[in-house]
Amino acid sequence: MKLISETIAINILDQIRHEFRDEIAEFEHRAASCDTCTTPGACCLDAHFVNVRISRLEAKAIRNALSELPNELREKVEKRIGETVSTYKLDEVIDTSTATYACPLFEKGVGCLVHTTAKPLPCIAHACYSSPNDLPPDELLDAAETKVERLNERTYARSQPLVLLPVAISGRSSMR
Ligand code: SF4
Ligand code: SF4
Repeated sequence: MKLISETIAINILDQIRHEFRDEIAEFEHRAASCDTCTTPGACCLDAHFVNVRISRLEAKAIRNALSELPNELREKVEKRIGETVSTYKLDEVIDTSTATYACPLFEKGVGCLVHTTAKPLPCIAHACYSSPNDLPPDELLDAAETKVERLNERTYARSQPLVLLPVAISGRSSMR
């Protein structure tokens, strides 16, 4: 397999994310509008619900996006990431498929800090649909996640399990 650089891979990741966003947009008109939400961020801060796991490359993209934030905000978010890992003991979790946490990337008054730059695929897919029949088919997310998995393999020459987002971006991850 011919490897590609992390920089090129992050550009391809961006394309995958944009294509996936376009696919999901065809369903989103059936969901409640986030612009008029009376509980903005409830989806991201629900410590019993959020279970976003990401790949090494997605973690790198998020780290890059955070590095562009103004210093004060970046330091605040870095602190929150560490606190999230500690509070929910996320670095001790054995089965990451069931672990949940309040996402440290949600900033009150701003929203998701990586919304336009590095939003994870499950977050792009998420919206408040009143009927399960209105949801985008799971196959769309599965297909996009498979593309990202292949991209990680082309970048790092191996397959690695997804890691809980706060751990993946905290520097405490085993993804190397
Ligand atoms: S996804 Fe739902 S809870 Fe989250 S901001 Fe949008 S409408 Fe509100
Ligand atoms: S990454 Fe963004 S959209 Fe996803 S849970 Fe965190 S704040 Fe919400």
